[in-house]
Formats: sequence, C-alpha cells, structure tokens
Amino acid sequence: VKKLPTPSQIYNFLNEYIIGQDTAKRTLAVAVYNHYKRHSVATTSDVEIQKSNVLLIGSTGTGKTLFAQTLARVLDVPFAIADATTLTEAGYVGEDVETILTRLLQNADYDVDKAERGIVFIDEIDKIARKSDNPSITRDVSGEGVQQALLKLLEGSIVNVPPQGGRKHPEQKMIAVNTQNILFICGGAFEGIERHIANRLNTQVIGFRSSSNSNGKVDKDNLIKHIAPQDLRAYGLIPEIIGRVPVITHMDNLSREALLEILVKPKNALIKQYIKLFEMDGIKLRIEQDVLELIVDTSIKFKLGARGLRTICETIMLDAMYDSPSNDE
Ligand code: ADP
Repeated sequence: VKKLPTPSQIYNFLNEYIIGQDTAKRTLAVAVYNHYKRHSVATTSDVEIQKSNVLLIGSTGTGKTLFAQTLARVLDVPFAIADATTLTEAGYVGEDVETILTRLLQNADYDVDKAERGIVFIDEIDKIARKSDNPSITRDVSGEGVQQALLKLLEGSIVNVPPQGGRKHPEQKMIAVNTQNILFICGGAFEGIERHIANRLNTQVIGFRSSSNSNGKVDKDNLIKHIAPQDLRAYGLIPEIIGRVPVITHMDNLSREALLEILVKPKNALIKQYIKLFEMDGIKLRIEQDVLELIVDTSIKFKLGARGLRTICETIMLDAMYDSPSNDE
C-alpha cells in the first residue's frame, strides 16, 4: 500500500505555489486526504466513509483555478477541470453535464476504475444559480435545469459518459461511470452574495443581540468569511446541490502585501519567470522594489487583483524583451 500524503504535507505543497488563503489550504488538504483514505478503506471496512464535496467561494483572481491546478500536480489520481458556464440542460445548445466526466476519463486513459477515484474541479458554479428574480426568462436552460443534472453527478450515480465529449447521440457508445467516489470541488465568485450574508448577519444581530453571539465580531471587509448554506440558497442554488457540497470554504481578498508576495515568492512566481526568460538570452534581470510596488499598486488601482499583475508586467517588460536579445549584435 502506498503511503498517503498527510494533510500537512499536502498543505506544504500548496504553500509552495499559493500565497495566503490559509483556510482554503487547510480545508482542501483535509478533503483530499480523506478522499485518499476513503479509497484505502473502502473494500475492507463495514463503515463506508461518504465523500464530502467541497465548495470554494471567492472573487475572481483570488486563486481558485490555481488551487485546482496545484492540486492536480500533487495528486496521483486523475483530475479534471470543467467550466459550469458551458453547460446547458440536455437538448439545448451547449454541453451536457456528462461531458464533465469525459475529460476525467481521458485523463485516466479511459481506465474507468481509475476515473471513479478521481477529482473534478467545476469552476463558475455560481453561474448556474437560478435567476428567479428575472421574470423575463421563461426557460432557464442554464440555471435550475443544469443544477438538477449536476446533482446526479454530485450525489453519486451511474452516469453514461460520451467518451469523446460533445453531444450524446445514439451512434456514440457510452461509457458508464459511477460517480459515488469521485470528489467534486466546486468554485465560484458568487458576486454580490455579500448582500445576502450581510442581511442574514444583520437579522441575527437584531434577533439574538450581539452579546449572545459567542465568537462575536463580524469582519465587514471580508464578509465572505461568514458564508453559510442559507446564503447560497438565497443566491439561487437549489437546496439539493447545497446538501451535496457540505464543505464550504472561502478565498480571502488579496491584500497589497499578498500581491507583492505573489509577484516574487511562489515556485513559479511571475518575476521568476521573467528572470528565467532573460537568463536564456544571457541577461541578468533585477527588478527594484519600487517597481514591484508600482506593479501592485497599478493592479489595485484598476481593481485587477492578481490577474492584473501579468498584464502590467508584460507592458513594462515589452521594450526590454524586444531589445535585449539583439543588444550585442
Ligand atoms: P480565480 O480562479 O480565483 O479567478 P486564478 O487562480 O485564475 O483566480 O488566479 C489568477 C492569477 O493570479 C493566476 O495567474 C494565479 O497564479 C495568480 N494568483 C491568484 N491568487 C494567488 C495566490 N493566492 N497565490 C499565488 N498566485 C495567485
């Protein structure tokens, strides 16, 4: 039997690539560890350990995809990333929910056993929330219908997967995949959900008086920290889906300090990449602290978050990257 990586080993690995986001790191480390453990006891024990799918909530550019990609590096189970925005209810233009598993099958070299132990990251899950407050939408083809379809995957069932993806059609031979032991990690920005959180917290404060609230303080700048299942319900996820993602964690908004670290610290930090690029031309690149701060402040100013860092760096480096290789011609 192969030795399982412990949660702290998984955590440390995540740390090499991801700045901050401590809560999410710990939560995912435990989720992945339990996922491995579940598979190692599955056949020998009479206690069946049920999986706990994970929901990762945080604004764009806080590192949700990075988490997925980094996990993919450390895991030795098949892993696939899917985007919920491409999904529609069966019969409409777009992709069937089952195609999420196509990628997993492909990454498992079509070994169904292996795929059934895999992990799937579904991004932008918030985009399929029910849009009930818009009465002009009569057919909610990318909303509740998709949630119902997705529910089948999340709760564990036998799903017929088109091996080449795309639409299901009669000629294509389907592969049956049991999703019972596949771990699903869902990510979403849930833009505007703070409103629901604030509403709920407010009512609570009035209802119980804040003194009865034991661990007391509400962090108004980071309301997302207080996310609870009711908020997801208010946002438009159906209760059945919420019930199938019992582990909810959040991404913190990135501070100025965090952005500065993101530039230079992770194993493949942006600045390290530029140093490498110049090194290949025999040039030693050094970037002053002032410049790093300028990059970060520009990104903050235009509300680009971590995503903006790359664009700003590219702009700054362009001339140097154009000129330097031919400098000694
Ligand atoms: P999201 O999926 O939440 O929208 P991404 O994972 O795509 O965000 O992050 C956008 C960019 O910012 C990526 O290039 C990523 O490497 C970087 N980034 C974001 N958050 C972090 C972080 N906490 N640590 C290191 N890099 C980060």
